[in-house]
Amino acid sequence: MNLEENNGIKYLTFDLLKNEDVKYGFSTRIGGVSTGVYDSLNFGFNRGDSDENVKENYRRMAKALNMNYERMCLSKQTHTTNVRVVTEKDAGNGILRPLPYDDVDGLITNVPDLPLVTFFADCIPLVLFDPKKRVIAAAHSGWRGTVGKIGKVTIEKMKESFSCDTKDILCCIAPGICKDCYEVSSDVAEEFKSAFGKDVAEEMLLRPSLFHPGDKEKYMLDLWKACKLVFLEAKIPKEHIEVTDYCTRCHPKLFYSHRVMGVNRGNLASFISL
Ligand SMILES: [Zn+2]
Repeated sequence: MNLEENNGIKYLTFDLLKNEDVKYGFSTRIGGVSTGVYDSLNFGFNRGDSDENVKENYRRMAKALNMNYERMCLSKQTHTTNVRVVTEKDAGNGILRPLPYDDVDGLITNVPDLPLVTFFADCIPLVLFDPKKRVIAAAHSGWRGTVGKIGKVTIEKMKESFSCDTKDILCCIAPGICKDCYEVSSDVAEEFKSAFGKDVAEEMLLRPSLFHPGDKEKYMLDLWKACKLVFLEAKIPKEHIEVTDYCTRCHPKLFYSHRVMGVNRGNLASFISL
């Protein structure tokens, strides 16, 4: 990934999308107008920040990425594997009007100039682009979404709705928590073992825990690897998968992190538009 700057806004882009005809950016906390714990580029409404500041942050990001602010379409993430195809009538959802849906952790569209916006602060952002069929998608893959394989669910829906071919889809894994920062307990580990099979799960569940080395009930979870394995399971060629090297918890000056800040923080966002 590359850290870029435009009009004071810092954001990250993928090498995999560099020469593609698609607009993309993953936000940092730098370049916005929010203050205090939201300092400064917060995209989360209803987190205690003023709506006015959040809207101004969207306007600035839209300008930096050359996207249309009023046509942005936001997700409503609740750790489900629900992925929704959005169309022209969804332009402005969450910006011009309240969201007409609930429990939507992934968005797909083939409509030009309809930016898809998804939210993060440690969970893993997935970004997909089919340059042949001109289809984009964005999804939220925390541990629950990863156990539910939302990456694969998104790809299946792209195939079903737009006849996308897995050999054409580019899959990006954007900044989230890394394997040295994400400790989970055995109940979460068990969910991964049932979803991926014991042997595969062992590749992503690392021991000893870096935080509680003596505790056999604790693991370090490699969610980046898990998300990559989900894409491979969906038959995406490995050269079409890019994994971030930016951890949200390792860099609290650059990102909001739930594990560092708890609920008193802003939200990062992933933006993609045709
Ligand atoms: Zn980390």
